[in-house]
Formats: sequence, C-alpha cells, structure tokens
Amino acid sequence: MEKEYSDCYYCGGVVKERLVPREFRWKGKLFVFENVPIGVCAQCGEKVIKPKVAKDIDHILEVNKKPTKTIQVPVYQYEQNIA
Ligand SMILES: [Zn+2]
Repeated sequence: MEKEYSDCYYCGGVVKERLVPREFRWKGKLFVFENVPIGVCAQCGEKVIKPKVAKDIDHILEVNKKPTKTIQVPVYQYEQNIA
C-alpha cells in the first residue's frame, strides 16, 4: 500500500487525501485530470501530489491515451478586458 502523507511541510497540519480536478501543462498544452488523489492540508490548504500519481499522469500523457472528453477553454487577455 501507499505510504500515508506526512504532515504538512509548511504548517505541520494533517494532510488528507481528496479526489480533485487538476490541470497539467505538458508540451505546451493544457490537460485536465479529474478525480486526482491529492493530499490537502486541513489547516493551510497546501496540496501534495504523490510521486506515483505524478508518474501515472506523465505516463497517460506520454502514451497519448484517449481522453474521457475534450473541453474548450476560454482565454482572455486580462489587460484588455478591464471593465
Ligand atoms: Zn499546512
């Protein structure tokens, strides 16, 4: 089994695993992964990703696995859109 998360690096709080959506950039493109198991500090919200999870994600991107779905992402230039 995977080792439990150690206490938060920043504040010493308890880190608990949650399934969250997470964006990754790879070769200049944006990818979204849903239900990623990530350790989240209950105290400060710091997020920790296990090396194994990061490796799995790298692998999925490397083998060009077919995504569950593809979404379009709106892109804005902040400076030109100040109301
Ligand atoms: Zn913390």
